[in-house]
Amino acid sequence: MLDTREASAGAVLTVDLDAIRANYRLLRDRLGGTACAGVVKADAYGLGASRVAPALAAEGCRHFFVAHLDEAIALRPHLSDDADLFVLHGVMPGVEADCVAHRIIPVLNSLPQIDAWTGLSRSLGRRLPAILQVDTGMSRLGLSAREMEILAADPARLDGIDLRFVMSHLACAEQQGHGMNAGQLARFREARARLPAAPGCFANSSGIFLGPDYHFDLARPGAALYGVAPVAGAPNPMRGVVRLQGRVIQVRDVEAGARVGYGGTWTAPAPARIATVSVGYADGYLRSLGNRGAAWRGGARLPVVGVVSMDTVTLDVSALGDHPPAPGSMVDLIGEHNPVDAVAEAAGTIGYEILTSLGGRYFRHYLGG
Ligand SMILES: *Cc1c(COP(=O)(O)O)cnc(C)c1O
Repeated sequence: MLDTREASAGAVLTVDLDAIRANYRLLRDRLGGTACAGVVKADAYGLGASRVAPALAAEGCRHFFVAHLDEAIALRPHLSDDADLFVLHGVMPGVEADCVAHRIIPVLNSLPQIDAWTGLSRSLGRRLPAILQVDTGMSRLGLSAREMEILAADPARLDGIDLRFVMSHLACAEQQGHGMNAGQLARFREARARLPAAPGCFANSSGIFLGPDYHFDLARPGAALYGVAPVAGAPNPMRGVVRLQGRVIQVRDVEAGARVGYGGTWTAPAPARIATVSVGYADGYLRSLGNRGAAWRGGARLPVVGVVSMDTVTLDVSALGDHPPAPGSMVDLIGEHNPVDAVAEAAGTIGYEILTSLGGRYFRHYLGG
């Protein structure tokens, strides 16, 4: 029988940890001899880092990335001692010692970060591990070309650092034909040649599919692990990971001409049956899905009609004919027929945003692991 919390929840989110593991294996197979990290920032893209990271570890993953130091501190107890945990945003002034205390490895993104890290390693009298990031064209994080000049002229500035990887990040990797990719690859190779020898870390999910030139020693996929398509315009080789089921709370028949929802933005062209489901934009079911998204039940597509409210969404369930969903039953808001990327397209965004918006009110189920 249903868990009572599940029975009382407005929606149920099922995260298939076995699918995440299968996706990890697929990426690792594509990478050949290159190691494969797991990017579990933003609570593993909204799916629960404390559950996802151990599932990846069970597949042999030993490198994990988060964005913030506090995410790393929260995740560290869920990882074994032989796993490395890296912080993409590096270490902010004043918290270097916290990094060391929690065995967290920063990605150093600037000369001041390098200097703070070498300073701490000198005062502790031991080499501290770090990744060094160079900017190769995204202008977001990492050493600029100017900072690279300064560092190349004064490599002793890295003394005291156990340089685990030199890394950079691709801006346009999901578009395989984009000219930025080859340009960034060339700049990454140049940067590595000017730095002390260290393994390279370059590809995100999509970068893995750009081919072996982009693989180097460690890849850093996130989204593909969670089922998001890595290559724009190509069939998705990844397994779906997320199912979001919303609960039907009321069903009503409306006459032709009836308006639905705030603003009356949808008018029934003919008599219709409307189901109200207890998921709304407060749950990350984005408001942009109003009059554009669709839920599914069995093989039937149930269009969103009207705008998405804070706690509810209205569906035209006329397609179910004599079998309307009973109050308390569920429809799929994300699932086999409407995977994350399809929901994202209807919402005018990317799968990453759909996943990381997933709400805190859902009852969460984990399969496998
Ligand atoms: C988020 C992130 C990743 C993972 O990217 P995906 O596209 O989700 O695979 C890798 N590297 C950096 C620097 C990131 O910020």
